[in-house]
Amino acid sequence: MALSPPVRRFKSRPVTFIFELPTDKLTEFWNGLEKGKVYASKCKKCGRLTFPPAADCSQCLNQGIDWVDIQGEGEIETFTHIVIRPTSFMNHPTYTVAVAKMNAGVKVLAWLTGAKLGDVKVGAKVKLAAVQSEDGPSYGFTLIG
Ligand SMILES: [Zn+2]
Repeated sequence: MALSPPVRRFKSRPVTFIFELPTDKLTEFWNGLEKGKVYASKCKKCGRLTFPPAADCSQCLNQGIDWVDIQGEGEIETFTHIVIRPTSFMNHPTYTVAVAKMNAGVKVLAWLTGAKLGDVKVGAKVKLAAVQSEDGPSYGFTLIG
């Protein structure tokens, strides 16, 4: 029985990928962020609300959507504090990401800023709002109260 030679492995240098994502059907979402709105898509046929927005309804496959600003209050369903950051976020301080069920009826995953670690809890109330970050328009949570 012949033995296989040992496999040698070499690590590559770090590689940076930059993608240009087509947003043609969802341009209104990005325009909304610049105008201070956080839009979900709402299917014109069945009414399903989707966030992040989708040009096509995953429930009925309809292609017509309306835009609904979902800013406002929500409740944290889960969260995590990110200490070991991915390479592309190494320049950011540690940060918190939360999933909240919005009063508008959809769940949103976003960064939660301005909160002490001990104050972030499942069930805590958050406010979702459009924000202008150094990386461009975005959205995020802040704790209420
Ligand atoms: Zn639909």
